Amino acid sequence: MLDLNSDVRYLKGIGEKKALALNKLGVFSLYDLISYFPRKYEDRSKYKPISICSDGENVCIRAFVANDPSLVTVRRGTSLVKLRAADESGVIDITFFNRPYAKNQLHKGEDYIFYGKIECSGSRKSMINPVFEREFGEHKLTGKIFPLYSLTAGISQTDLSNSVRQVLDNCLDYVPEVLPQDVLNEEKLCQLRYAYENIHFPADFKALELARKRLVFEELFVISCALSRIRKTRVQTPGIKMHMLDITGFYDSLPFSPTSAQRRSINEAMDDMCSGREMSRLLQGDVGSGKTLVAAALIWFCRKNGYSSAFMAPTEILAQQHFETLNNFLSPFGLKTGLLIGSMTAKEKRVVKEGLAKGEYDLIIGTHALFSADVEYKNLGLIVTDEQHRFGVNQRAALISKGSNPHVLVMSATPIPRTLALILYGDLDVSIIDELPPGRQKIDTFAVDESYRQRLNNFILKLTGEGRQVFVVCPMVEENEELPVKLKSAQEHAKELSALFPHLKTACVHGKMKAADKEKIMSEFAKGQIDILVATTVIEVGVDVPNAALMIVENAERFGLSQLHQLRGRVGRGPHKSYCVLVSNSDSEDTKARLSIMHKTNDGFKISEEDLRLRGPGDFFGARQHGLPQTHIADLGADTQLLQKAQASADALLRKDPSLSLPGNQPLREKIEKLFKSSSDSFN
Ligand code: ADP
Ligand code: MG
Repeated sequence: MLDLNSDVRYLKGIGEKKALALNKLGVFSLYDLISYFPRKYEDRSKYKPISICSDGENVCIRAFVANDPSLVTVRRGTSLVKLRAADESGVIDITFFNRPYAKNQLHKGEDYIFYGKIECSGSRKSMINPVFEREFGEHKLTGKIFPLYSLTAGISQTDLSNSVRQVLDNCLDYVPEVLPQDVLNEEKLCQLRYAYENIHFPADFKALELARKRLVFEELFVISCALSRIRKTRVQTPGIKMHMLDITGFYDSLPFSPTSAQRRSINEAMDDMCSGREMSRLLQGDVGSGKTLVAAALIWFCRKNGYSSAFMAPTEILAQQHFETLNNFLSPFGLKTGLLIGSMTAKEKRVVKEGLAKGEYDLIIGTHALFSADVEYKNLGLIVTDEQHRFGVNQRAALISKGSNPHVLVMSATPIPRTLALILYGDLDVSIIDELPPGRQKIDTFAVDESYRQRLNNFILKLTGEGRQVFVVCPMVEENEELPVKLKSAQEHAKELSALFPHLKTACVHGKMKAADKEKIMSEFAKGQIDILVATTVIEVGVDVPNAALMIVENAERFGLSQLHQLRGRVGRGPHKSYCVLVSNSDSEDTKARLSIMHKTNDGFKISEEDLRLRGPGDFFGARQHGLPQTHIADLGADTQLLQKAQASADALLRKDPSLSLPGNQPLREKIEKLFKSSSDSFN
């Protein structure tokens, strides 16, 4: 007897090999299988007479085969089956590439249904590789909305549909309902059985929509409950209790007055640290909004309370820059700051480590070297991590384990739409610096095409002539012949530029270089020894080069808006008027609209909202860097309204039953536990 926990290998038609293929898709149990939703659907429900089919249309036609299909082998490995089909209204040419078996499946004079894309050229109509089946008999492939699943080698669409059908027929009654009845009523969500049936085998598009809405809601509801519960556990974790202090003395020493957003963020964090609970706070602020100062204030605060701090940066060069900046802020108060990075000699490292163990440093700055096993801390009260998404959750956990529940501040320069912040950083409290220091100049941004190349080159000459430096960002390292558009490769482009400007020093950094080589070039650029730095997006990570005044992005259409905004933030960090030029030859209206947003606004939050709206969260955050929980069906970009409702319902439920111990909430509780098991480190 099958139940939802049974292994997929017990299904009819699924042997050992196919079971392994399913496992690759993350499908192990029958419950996993029915929760593996189609990637998209084809509308194979519409029939048309051949004569009225138009170019590019996907339709079913009912037609008889008019001649004997012919099979020719064009080249080795390429075969063509050709035939002509007809209905009462007209004829159509049908071609199959590399499907030699079609010749024997289609017989002259018999009736079939063909589903595919119509191509018209003059009065001739054709279809390539249509789906087909006999007109008489059961229709399995046509006459319906047809689900298409993401596949992997060894498993076919038919395998998946057949297996899902078996599970729905046998186990649908046992799928646990996790949504409370009042939520179902309130949101007018359809019943569970209806949802699973119609997400896989939609009766029509209306039914599909209802099914999808319910399943999306359920998924977001479960994630929301899960995150609320993590937040709650964290709130109960005791932390070092500090004492509130007057911080004006620190402010008075600064060369400028902190913005009110900086002050507010500092106050929020100090309140956390005095609460007796462990702080886990995300500090979010646009590039250049002054996050480092917030960190400095909190480090100062800890020291006044008798604790030391650790500051973790994602690269050595950033660690070095932070070392200088923070030392400037803190040394007037007698704080001692140390640096610990991989490229230091063994002896240098030993000295620092000994100092740390003795408690000689008030602040230690470094890369992941900070959490190697032989580093001991004394009185560690605060850990700050910069550009958090570059660190794995485990790395951060390793550092946290160094102290006894030190407070944690995570800094991020990726502005996140508020709707998403709760999901993305669901277990953190959030401070937002939504204000730039006064007097920041706007970075003039232009989107241009190839016809501006000459002018752009002249502009490079002009600015470098004035002593400025230039960033050029390319989307990839090497030529990639598979892509139809010729993309600027960083290496090739650097060669062109250095041939064009022999008197300037041009260098190239890209992701495939060794970290040490990369760092070397970056630091030469930071010191002004390189005029033009051609790079892939490795430079995204906040290196400060105040003398850089021009950012050129090649193939700008390949980048997300938030990414472009980050890149743009690399210039305009000094006193010089700065520019960003986005080069794109794309004709697409969408691309033009996207790039024009960059021209119109410098506000990272607005940009990220637009970006999310236009591209969806997957692209938005870049490949798997984002730490978003993997969703099966919800689209965190498009489903924001449902997300808000699901969050509200989750909060309401948890207020009534915080530990989810009521019998009715058992299925929900189990689902949450399962979620953690399957994605224990996909939460930030
Ligand atoms: P980010 O948030 O990108 O890390 P930084 O901390 O590097 O920003 O700050 C960017 C620049 O702004 C630095 O040169 C810093 O000294 C300066 N800055 C920070 N806060 C203020 C302020 N309140 N007034 C003027 N300049 C500030
Ligand atoms: Mg920074």
